[in-house]
Amino acid sequence: MSFIIKCLDCGHNAPYYPTSTTCPKCNSQWREAEYDYELIGKTLLSKLVGRSSDLWRYKELLPVRNPNISLSLGEGNTPLVRAVNLGMMLGCPNIYIKDERQGPTASFKDRQAAVTIAALKEAGITELVAASTGNVAIAYSAYASRAGMKLWAFVTSLVPGVKMREIALYGSQVIKITGSYDQCKQVAAEFARQRKLYLDMGARTITSIEAMKTIAFEISEQLTAIQGAGEATPWRTPDWYVQAISGGMGPIGVYKGFREMQQMGWTDKIPAFAPIQTEGCAPMVNSWKKGLEKAEPVLNPKTRIETLATGDPGRAYEFLRAHVNNTNGVFESVSDEDAHRAMHVLAKMEGISAEPAAGVAFAGLFKLIRAGVIKPSDTVVVNCTGHTLPAEPIVLGDNWSRDVKFPSTETPQEGLLSALTEVAPERFPKIAIVEDTTEARRLIRRILQSQGNFTILEAANGREGLELIQSELPDLVVIDLMMPEMDGFTVIEELRKKQETATIPVIVVTAKELTPDEKSRLGGHIQALLQKGDFLNDEFLEEVKSLIK
Ligand SMILES: *Cc1c(COP(=O)(O)O)cnc(C)c1O
Ligand SMILES: [Zn+2]
Repeated sequence: MSFIIKCLDCGHNAPYYPTSTTCPKCNSQWREAEYDYELIGKTLLSKLVGRSSDLWRYKELLPVRNPNISLSLGEGNTPLVRAVNLGMMLGCPNIYIKDERQGPTASFKDRQAAVTIAALKEAGITELVAASTGNVAIAYSAYASRAGMKLWAFVTSLVPGVKMREIALYGSQVIKITGSYDQCKQVAAEFARQRKLYLDMGARTITSIEAMKTIAFEISEQLTAIQGAGEATPWRTPDWYVQAISGGMGPIGVYKGFREMQQMGWTDKIPAFAPIQTEGCAPMVNSWKKGLEKAEPVLNPKTRIETLATGDPGRAYEFLRAHVNNTNGVFESVSDEDAHRAMHVLAKMEGISAEPAAGVAFAGLFKLIRAGVIKPSDTVVVNCTGHTLPAEPIVLGDNWSRDVKFPSTETPQEGLLSALTEVAPERFPKIAIVEDTTEARRLIRRILQSQGNFTILEAANGREGLELIQSELPDLVVIDLMMPEMDGFTVIEELRKKQETATIPVIVVTAKELTPDEKSRLGGHIQALLQKGDFLNDEFLEEVKSLIK
C-alpha cells in the first residue's frame, strides 16, 4: 500500500510519519492521506471476495503498512440493520441502522483506536496521550493494552463513572479534569508537550479520519448486498447519512470514504450529511444556521450528554460545513429530553439499546423526517454510534419495575403462587385493534405492548371487527376508517346502537384527512382521532391510559 499525506491548506505532499503532525511547508495541522485511486479502484473490488470481514479488508486504503493481525479485536464489520418498525412508524420505510455498538468496546471509536494504535505500534511508539469524553479513551485503552502501549487518558469529571472505570480496567491512567472538555484537551496537550509524548489530535489525526471512512465503505458494500448494485456503478450509497457529533471526526472521515468510492467509480454519489448536536452544546448547528464560515464556540456546554460536549470545534466545522453544503445536507439540534425519548423509542421498537449520544442521532432523524427534509422515499443510514450504559432512571420514567416480596407461607408452592399474583393482575384490560393493514396492526400492537399490560385482540376488516367487539366487549377499541367489508364509520354507528357496546371508548387512527361531513358523522361517538404517523407523539398512549381505568 502506498500513499502520501497531502496538506489541505497548501497542497504540499509529504511522506507519512505518525509523529509529524504538521505540514513541513506551511505548518498546517489539516492534512489527509491520498492513495492511487485509479489503480485501487480497478483492482480492489475483486480482491475483497474471500477476505476477512473486519475493516482491514480495505487495507489498500488504510495508512498502515503491515496490518498486525495480533492487535486486532475484530474491529469494523458492524451490521447494517433495517429499522422496519421505526420505518413504519415514521412513514419512511428505508431506514437502516449502522450498529456501531457491536464494536469491541461498543462504540465507533474502536475503528479509530484500531487503526491509530496499529500505525503507532508500527512506528515504534510506546506511550500516548488522549483527551476524551469517554469512548475514545475506552477504545484506545483496550487497543493500547493489546499493543503493550501506555495510555494517559484525560477525561472531564462529568464522564460517567462506569466509563472511567472501564478505561482504568484496561490498565490506563485516568486523569479526571474538573472543567470543560475544551479545558481538558488543553491540559492533555500541555502534558504531552512537556513529556514529549504522542498526542491524539482528534479530527486532525490522519489515522482516525482514515479509520472512520471504513464506515462508508461498509455501508455501501452492505447496502449493495441488500438492495443490489447501483444503476451504473458496482456499489450504491444511501440518500442520507445521519450521525450525532461532538468534534465531527466521524462524519469528516465517513465523507472521505464516500468521496473515495465515487473517485474510484464504485458509486455515483455522496449521501446528504445530517450531523446532529444536542441543543446545550450545538456550536456547529448554531453557526451553520447563522451562515457563519467559522464556528462560534460554546463556552459553557449545558448538556447531560457528556459524550457530545465539544464546545469549540475549531476548523473541523469549516470542513464539515463544506461537506454538508456540498451534499445538500443539514445540521440540526435536539434537546437532551428528545434524545432520551428517542433512545427509549429505539429500544422499544427495534430492540437496540444505545447510549444517549446515539439517541441524539435518532431524535435528529425523527425531527428531519417530520420537517419533510428527509423524504419518505429516501434511503437513510443512521450511525448508532455506541455503547449501552446502565439505563439511567430518567430515561425509563416511573413504574418500570415491580417489587414483589416472596411471602412466608406454609408451603413453598403457595408462596410462589401468591408472589405471582403480585407480578401482574390476572386480567389485563382488553383492547381491540380493527385495522386492515397487517403492518399497521402490528405497529399499534407493538406500541401498546411496550407501554403496559393489555390483552390485544385484532380484526382485519370492519365486519370482523364488529363481531369481535360484540362478542368480547373490550375495554377499548382502536379502529381505522377506510377498510374493506365494512368501513370504520359504520362499525362505530353499529356499536353505538346497542346498549352493551354503546359506551366502549373508541380511538380512531386514520391516514386520511377527514372532510367536515365525515367529522360530523363521527362527532360525539369517538373519544379521540389520531393521524397515522403521529404515534411518536405521546398523545396516543396518553389517550389509551386515560380511557382505560
Ligand atoms: C465520539 C462519539 C460521538 C461523536 O463523534 P464525532 O464524530 O467525533 O463528533 C457520537 N456518539 C458516540 C457514542 C461517540 O462515542
Ligand atoms: Zn501546507
